[in-house]
Amino acid sequence: MSQTGISKLDLKRRNRTEILKLLVYHGPLSRIDIARNLKLTRAAVTIITNEMITQGIVSEIGEEIQADGKRQRGRKKILLDICGNYRLSFGVVIDIERTHVGLADLKGITLEKETLYANGLSLKERINAACEVIRKWVSRNSLSQEQILGIGLCISDNACSVLGYQYKEECYRIAREFAVQQLNFSIMVDGTAESLAVAELVFSQSGARKPENIVLLRYGYDVDAAVMVDGKVYKGHTGKAGRFAHMVVDTQGELCFCGKVGCCITKMSVQRIVEKIKKMYSKDRTPYLYQISGGDPQRLQFTVDNLKIFVMDEAVQKLYQEALSYLTTALDNILNLLDPERIILFGFVFEKILDLDMLTKLMEQKHNWDLKDKLCLSCISDSRIHLAGCGICVSDLFLEKGGM
Ligand SMILES: [Zn+2]
Repeated sequence: MSQTGISKLDLKRRNRTEILKLLVYHGPLSRIDIARNLKLTRAAVTIITNEMITQGIVSEIGEEIQADGKRQRGRKKILLDICGNYRLSFGVVIDIERTHVGLADLKGITLEKETLYANGLSLKERINAACEVIRKWVSRNSLSQEQILGIGLCISDNACSVLGYQYKEECYRIAREFAVQQLNFSIMVDGTAESLAVAELVFSQSGARKPENIVLLRYGYDVDAAVMVDGKVYKGHTGKAGRFAHMVVDTQGELCFCGKVGCCITKMSVQRIVEKIKKMYSKDRTPYLYQISGGDPQRLQFTVDNLKIFVMDEAVQKLYQEALSYLTTALDNILNLLDPERIILFGFVFEKILDLDMLTKLMEQKHNWDLKDKLCLSCISDSRIHLAGCGICVSDLFLEKGGM
């Protein structure tokens, strides 16, 4: 006889998953509102949530206050929320030149974080270094195996290329193998932009429903994007969707490391811009830079915080304008093709260099888009990029498993 239908345990897990997802995607809710949202009976919700309260997964956080500040009349509505510290997870992000490692709780509160400079190191050396940091934190915080959901390991497409892997799947597989040899935790591996989109959905704070049709755009140490449709990352037929960095924006442009010509990344990447600034450095073309560095290009320090001051020179300003114009063209294409509910902007360029109001204005003037409620900064700052890895752990190892 063939097995059809689902077991009682599957059903229980499914209901728990639905409730946990609702609390995470929507924010604290009362039992009656959970029942209404999920079309479950109040009795069923009470049984399921009481069990999760006993287990320390969910807790009552107080009475619901109405929009006008008054308490509810009649029967009190007690809000339920996820207990952030019920489980912790490690996030590791392998970027082109850096490895970011962090430890966070279910709400994305970071407990530990460290950035390792990894220029020129192999994938194995980078995984080993990250695992060493994790072992140090496990012992320092006396963490037990059962407190930890797992490790979310994120590798950007461009980092895969720089590390010498033509196919990212192979890079992911090898990274997982190295990590499994080192640590006895569940290990998830995925792309960085894809994981950031998941983390955005899991960790952003919202009093209302969070948008589930989004495009996440990364612009910082790397240029990348991910597309999320109905709360799930869209990967395309062969896993290559969202390769924003290699969208061709100039058919007469420079050769990209991917072998094509005029990719977005060759126009926009901060590394490329810094390389170009160094090349044009001279008393005539970059008088301001020449002056502050005393005529010695070695003394120019390019950091996240001082990139903005380099725009004092007209020639450099031009480079920025060019990058900005390619960015807006790319944004225009994304909007036309995907019509997302929101475009989430991640990375230090959006945080510290580019003014969002200016970007919105440019999109209106040049491309005729009204993006007032569409463009927004990610809830995750560039300095907490490890949350990408923590996000996929919370999503796959906690929510999808119903916290079981
Ligand atoms: Zn390319």
